[in-house]
Amino acid sequence: MQVLLIEDNDMITEPLIDGLGRYGFSVERVTTGADALRATPGEMVLLDLGLPDMDGIDVCRQLRQSSEVPIIMLTARGEEADRIVGLEIGADDYLTKPFSLRELVARMRAVARRTRSTPGRPAPAPTPAPQVLSLSATHSVSELRLDRRARQVQVNTQLITLTPKEFDLLALLSQDPGAVYSRSQILRSVWGTDFFGSTKTLDFHVATLRRKLGDPTMIETVRGVGYRLSVYASVPVPSP
Ligand code: CA
Repeated sequence: MQVLLIEDNDMITEPLIDGLGRYGFSVERVTTGADALRATPGEMVLLDLGLPDMDGIDVCRQLRQSSEVPIIMLTARGEEADRIVGLEIGADDYLTKPFSLRELVARMRAVARRTRSTPGRPAPAPTPAPQVLSLSATHSVSELRLDRRARQVQVNTQLITLTPKEFDLLALLSQDPGAVYSRSQILRSVWGTDFFGSTKTLDFHVATLRRKLGDPTMIETVRGVGYRLSVYASVPVPSP
């Protein structure tokens, strides 16, 4: 996979380019926003928000205007507001420095999987979310089974009754277990683009969903950003 790395700090980029090479990524590196906008974005962009010449958020916005390439932001602590804006203007995920190479590679693979199945993106091999998914929550022994076809959810083999919105919310988060979905992404996807109500609606639905699932840790709050399904294992169940 061709990756464009936009980062001015040599201390970070040198080991990163080496490491990503070992995982089979071929990295082109630029150090400024201006060079980034002239470069070929490749198949994925890793974007440092603290660049010497431009605000990384503006680089993100301009890249998004001309390309659907997946973008992962690399941010420093304390750039929470930037992360939120970045996700809202179309970045796909973020990592807070310092991060490990393994974590970055895991996020890159997750973003690649997720963006491949988004309409309008170049789709070399569409992988739709499995119809039936079995998940284990991180902090407990709960097993969650979600059947999209039958719109049924089971926790530890017990059938759980969900409202349509609660089901859609859980189905969205389970499309990519572990990945963060921003509040605006969730509202757009579950409530539609015409949703102008209070975002408290989302928190309310998450609260009732957590209560019904019987395991509040299964849906994790990512402060200032949104929610993710907290899992250590997800097993797509083959369709009969
Ligand atoms: Ca920097």
